[in-house]
Amino acid sequence: MSYKNLRRILGLILVIAVISVSTLTAATPSYAASFRDVDNHWSKSYVETVSDYKAITGYPDGTFKPNETIKRIEFISLIVNSQGTYVRDRKNGEFWGQPYVEAAIRSNLIGSDEFGNMGESDLNRNISREEMASIVVNAYTQTGGRIDSSALHKASTGLSDFDKVSSDYRKNAIASVALDLISGYPNGTFAPNQNANRAEAAVISYRLLVKQGTIPDNSLPVNVTLSKEKLQQGDMLRINVYHANSSSELSLVQDLYPGFKWYDSNGVILGYIPTNYHTSPGVHSLNLKDSRTGKIITKNIQVVSRDFRVQYLTVDPNVEASTRNDEANAQYRKYFNPAREVSSPVKYYSEPFILPTKGRITTEFGETRTVNSAPTSYRHSGLDIAAPTNTEVLATNAGKVTLAMHLTLTGNSIVIDHGEGLFSVYFHLEKLFVSKGDLVSRGQLIGGVGSTGFSTGPHLHFTMSHFSTNVEPGFLIYNQPVTKNNYQELMK
Ligand SMILES: [Zn+2]
Repeated sequence: MSYKNLRRILGLILVIAVISVSTLTAATPSYAASFRDVDNHWSKSYVETVSDYKAITGYPDGTFKPNETIKRIEFISLIVNSQGTYVRDRKNGEFWGQPYVEAAIRSNLIGSDEFGNMGESDLNRNISREEMASIVVNAYTQTGGRIDSSALHKASTGLSDFDKVSSDYRKNAIASVALDLISGYPNGTFAPNQNANRAEAAVISYRLLVKQGTIPDNSLPVNVTLSKEKLQQGDMLRINVYHANSSSELSLVQDLYPGFKWYDSNGVILGYIPTNYHTSPGVHSLNLKDSRTGKIITKNIQVVSRDFRVQYLTVDPNVEASTRNDEANAQYRKYFNPAREVSSPVKYYSEPFILPTKGRITTEFGETRTVNSAPTSYRHSGLDIAAPTNTEVLATNAGKVTLAMHLTLTGNSIVIDHGEGLFSVYFHLEKLFVSKGDLVSRGQLIGGVGSTGFSTGPHLHFTMSHFSTNVEPGFLIYNQPVTKNNYQELMK
């Protein structure tokens, strides 16, 4: 849910909450717990805020285990704690959850025979979404919360599978969506039998506390996560910023990528830092400043060097003279460079990238080259995949074609914009099956392998880049470099 929506709903709910304020238990934050395994997790701000209200607890080893599935008893204790309900001391040898179950039954969060025999094994089962919905809506209504009937009606028609919810839970399942305590999935389902992880449970608890007015201010602290903390040269870092108002209030100070840009993707503000053979290895600091709060968040990443190969290439001097000359270079700059200058701010793809063709890797990413015994300063910008002429070349992912033409240097060439600054490039094709401006889908046939341009035999030259900064395609496809040593294993 977006912030604006949260605010709007909160506005409505506050009116109700003020009326029923005498029934609320005001918990005051008394400690700020932090769990080491949420430091780089999207749920950090939710978990820590809810933890401040003593609703949520971690494990004795200082972890929260955000990705672990939450059990019935854990969710029950989470909601009981968030409501400030009295919980008696545990008797010697007793199951730790027993006092919470009794408190939950007493305050009508659950029925006395809700989960099988109500024994330890029933309570240690993973909780389903319909069971969570029932408990959280009960907690809300038991403390005087009301549900707007038009919101109920809207929620009941908004998702496609409320008929699959157990009849006992259907009313509360619809109410949980109407109250925005639990969200439906983007595919329009409630998924009543699906489980949730502990991070998602923390979000539900947070929303309940906001609706009840226990958490008075719904502006969560900004949270930054990194896709990785250690990158090999050629890998690309993704930075996600949660709970920021707008990218215009964020500034990132870093020494790795002058072309850094923010993108807004469904309320998450994100950006990419590509690295390659020019990136200096070592620790680099990323300092994010939120001008709204003045807060600065510092994260460090480590760039690890990679041994790039040296290639000794012999090219027919006639081919070299006709394809690698000033005129060919000027033509390349004129047409190729602009094709990677403008990218859609919204990405075209939602699935993983694929290798566009299969064959033998003849040149790796980042190789330095000696052509006809003369060393060059040139670094190989992508992967060379040797394959027979007219072997199918597929789009690595969905996107929009920004170049499809013959260039003297690179032969028949294609560039695809995938959005958010990410591009793929295909050179030396025998045939072109797309035109500039075409929208292509992932895996769509776009050309055939060839040997056009500066080439010694049929192969696909395949580059991936963030704007004009080339990255190792293998990291986007296999999360590791594609090399002469591992390609057969990877392409299986
Ligand atoms: Zn190449």
